[in-house]
Amino acid sequence: MKRNKLSRFLVSLLLALLTLSAVSADRLKVHVTWLSDPARAGRQAGSPGAAAAAEYIARQLKEIGCDVQMQDFGGRRRNVVCRIGTAARYVLLGAHYDGQGPGMPSASDNATGVAVTIEILRDLRLKELPVSLVAVAFDDEEQGLNGSRYYSDHPLYPLENAEAAIIFDTMGRQFMDLSTWTMFVLGAEYSKELAAVVQRRSRSDMLIVGTDLIGPRSDFAPFGVKHVPYLFFSHATHKDYHGSGDTIDRVNFVKLAEDTNLIAQIVEDIARLQTQPKYLTQPVYPAGESAALERQLEVVEKERKDLPQAYRLMFGDFKLRLKSDETRELRRIATSALLALATPQFSSFMLSFYVGPYYERENRRDIAAAAYDEALKWTTDPSEKRDLDEKIRMLK
Ligand SMILES: [Zn+2]
Repeated sequence: MKRNKLSRFLVSLLLALLTLSAVSADRLKVHVTWLSDPARAGRQAGSPGAAAAAEYIARQLKEIGCDVQMQDFGGRRRNVVCRIGTAARYVLLGAHYDGQGPGMPSASDNATGVAVTIEILRDLRLKELPVSLVAVAFDDEEQGLNGSRYYSDHPLYPLENAEAAIIFDTMGRQFMDLSTWTMFVLGAEYSKELAAVVQRRSRSDMLIVGTDLIGPRSDFAPFGVKHVPYLFFSHATHKDYHGSGDTIDRVNFVKLAEDTNLIAQIVEDIARLQTQPKYLTQPVYPAGESAALERQLEVVEKERKDLPQAYRLMFGDFKLRLKSDETRELRRIATSALLALATPQFSSFMLSFYVGPYYERENRRDIAAAAYDEALKWTTDPSEKRDLDEKIRMLK
């Protein structure tokens, strides 16, 4: 009798511990600390720092029981690939581990994404999922998604067995350094099944938008090309993106752990789907996308007291247009303007090549000129400066 009681007690204790086995902020931080350490010299693809990072990731994955393979693809570059489970069908988790090189800690881009991948795997390995989990830490993303393109051309597990590819990039900081927390979720438009899972788990701080708003800018793109349903999670750009200020002390590990737990739940839901998600060649864009963009513009207007006049003009105009204009183009342009404002190094490019030309086409010469004026502030190249000056003169 007594023994029976004891074992019942032990079973319930074990169950309690299992449900507590959530992703911890501390563990995430340990990985990011190691990967963004100056000794890794920014983990540039092909460098000793990147090689050391690959070894570290392989060790971590082995430790949680994942069977690791190194996939070399030339130039001293390698993807770290592993699988937990024996089922042929699997969910793939992936993040690039290469960074921007010496002087660039590349903490939020993308030591955090790698940490998220490892810790979701650790969390889910105990859940007796009906499918396997495959994790890939991609090398050489920064110079053109080279690791993920190589992997999707030479997958170690057949891509047709993938339920979905779940990709992480640029995690753990506030979008545009705003006071509000935002997690972007892209890719749901290519799968009814994934969209349903995301919808069920959605929270008010999630911005579920179509991938076309940012374009093929991370490792999800090669999977999309191969028609593997995918989701892309990112906290998106900030003022230190691709800069020397992308340091670990600016990463919010408590929020990162919270979101990682939510993503782990989403991955688990996908793993337990009755039918394998299908890739839609005709995307179905999420409802509420336009309203979400409008809200984002409003938050920025409110918080950025120093918002340059060009942006005030554009944002005011976007908000009006979004009410009646349902085109993808308008939403892409509004997103480009947000990204231009978020990261100074993109400002000139986004404003000169997307936003300005849009307003020229729309025959809003005043806003086009303001956009080129703003671009001029961020241009150092003399010939680009001349071009912009010329455009502004023509418009005024
Ligand atoms: Zn990145």
